[in-house]
Amino acid sequence: MMIPEVVKHFLIKHKKGQGFYCVELDEKFNAKHCFGEAKELGISPPRLGNPIVDFLPVLLTESFDKDFEIPFYNISDNHVCHVYFTRTSDRIFLILVDKSEIFHITKKYQQFAHDDNISKNMFKRLSEDLAITQAQLKKSNQEKATLIAMLSHELGTPLTSILGYSELLMNEDINIKKGLTIINRNAVYLKQMIENTLIFGRTEAGGIQKQLEKVSLNTLFSTIKSIVLPLAEAKSLKIQFDFTDNEVINIDITRTKQILINLLNNAVKYTDEGFIELKFTIKNNSYVFSVIDSGIGISKSQQINIFSPWERIEESTAKGAGIGLFISQKLAEAIGAKLSLKYSSKEFGSIFQLTVPIQKLTNLKVYSPAETKKICQGKSILIIDDDPDILELIDAFLYSSGLKIYTAQDMIIAEKLLKENGIDIILTDYYLGNVKSDSYVKKFKSMQNVPMILMTALPSSEINIQYKAQGFDAVLPKPLNSKKLIQTIVQFITKKS
Ligand code: ADP
Repeated sequence: MMIPEVVKHFLIKHKKGQGFYCVELDEKFNAKHCFGEAKELGISPPRLGNPIVDFLPVLLTESFDKDFEIPFYNISDNHVCHVYFTRTSDRIFLILVDKSEIFHITKKYQQFAHDDNISKNMFKRLSEDLAITQAQLKKSNQEKATLIAMLSHELGTPLTSILGYSELLMNEDINIKKGLTIINRNAVYLKQMIENTLIFGRTEAGGIQKQLEKVSLNTLFSTIKSIVLPLAEAKSLKIQFDFTDNEVINIDITRTKQILINLLNNAVKYTDEGFIELKFTIKNNSYVFSVIDSGIGISKSQQINIFSPWERIEESTAKGAGIGLFISQKLAEAIGAKLSLKYSSKEFGSIFQLTVPIQKLTNLKVYSPAETKKICQGKSILIIDDDPDILELIDAFLYSSGLKIYTAQDMIIAEKLLKENGIDIILTDYYLGNVKSDSYVKKFKSMQNVPMILMTALPSSEINIQYKAQGFDAVLPKPLNSKKLIQTIVQFITKKS
C-alpha cells in the first residue's frame, strides 16, 4: 500500500534514514491500514479493526485528544522506537520510528560514563588510601629515626657513667659503695630501657600474647619490691605495699609486672621527697592496682599526651625516652586491662591505675609428674614443626612424661607416621615452610580422630578467634611453657581414655 503523503512528510522530518512502521487508525482508534514492514522492528502487525491499545498497551495511558510522542519505547527485544501519534483534518496515524541504533549508542555512552565515573571514584579512593599509607610510612620512619637517635643518646649516657665509675673503681679513686651504687642505678636504667624498646618493637608488630597464670599477691609484690626498693631507697623515699589478703589471683604475671614496674619506676623518677605506694583492691569484678606518689605531678594540660609515644613533659628533669607509659598502655590493652591516670596535681602527686577484669580461675586439675607419667604411659604423641631445634626442645620437655614421641619436620612425614602408628594426640606448628597446618586438620582427623593442638607465635587476638574454626582443639602460644604444654596434653589424653 502506498504511503500517504502526510506520513512521508512526517518521516522526512523525524526519521533521519532509519526503519519505520505506520498504522492508520479510524475515529475509534482501531487499526485501519498498515504501511511498512512490521518484522523490521521485530513485531507482528496489529489486527485490523482491533483497538490500537491491544497492539501497543503503552497507549492505554494516552487520551488521544492531541498529538503526542513516546520516546525510546522498547517495542521488541532488539528494537527501540519513538512512537508518534499524529492527526490531519481527516486521517489519524500511529508512526513507529526505529531509534535502536541511537538508543544503543546512547546506552553505551552512558555505560562508559558510568564506568568512567566508577573508575574515577576508585582512583580517588586509591589515591586517598595511598596518601594515608604514605603518611603512616612517613610517621613510622620518623618514629624509627627518633627511636635510633633516642637509643644512641639514652643508652650512651648511662653507659658513660658505668664505664667511667668502673674505671675509677679499678683505680680505687672512689668510695666503692658510692661507685657501685651509681653503676647499679645506671645498669637498672639501661635494662629497663632495653626491655621497653624490645616491647615497643613487639607491640608495633602486634605480637603480644596474653598468658594467664595463678600467683599469690605476696609473691607478685615481693618480686616487684625487690626491683623498686633499691631505687626508692637511693632517693630516701618511703615505699609502701598495701594489700589486705595474700590472695591468689589469675593474671598475666609477666605483663602485669612489667606495667607495675614501669609505673613504680616513674613514681620514683618523678618524686623527690615523700612516698610511693602500690595498692591492691578488688572493685567491680576487677583487680585494681594503684601506683601512688607524692611527686611533682602532671598539670591538666599535659595529662592528655603522656600516653603517646615520645611524649615527655618538657620540664621533666629525670631521664626518660617517653615510651614507658605508651608501652604500659599497649601491654594493658593486650591483656584486656585498662591503664589510666586517675589523678594528678602539682601539689599532691599522681595516681596511676591498672584495672584488670577478673577472669575465672580455670578449674583444670594440675597433675603431678607421677600422675602425668601414669596417664601418659603407653600413649603416643606426634609433634610437627619444621624447626629441628624446637622438636628437640619439646622432646626434652616431654622426656619424663612417659609419652612415646614421634616427630615430623613436614606434613608428608607426619602423614606417613600417622598412617603407620597409633597416635593419641598431635601437636603442630602453624607455618611449616610454605604449608599451613590448618589445611591438614580434616585429613589427619579422618585418618585418626585425635585431638590436634596448635602451637603458634601468631598474635593471640587473631589466632584465638580462628583456631576453633580451623578445626584445632586447643592453641598454645609460642614460646612454649613446658608446664602448660604437659598439662594441656594430659587433659586431652585423660578426656580421650
Ligand atoms: P619517660 O621515659 O619520659 O618517663 P613515660 O612514657 O614513662 O616516659 O612518661 C611520659 C611523661 O609523663 C614523663 O616524661 C613525665 O613527664 C610524665 N610522668 C610519668 N609518670 C609520672 C609521675 N608518676 N609523676 C609525674 N610525671 C610523670
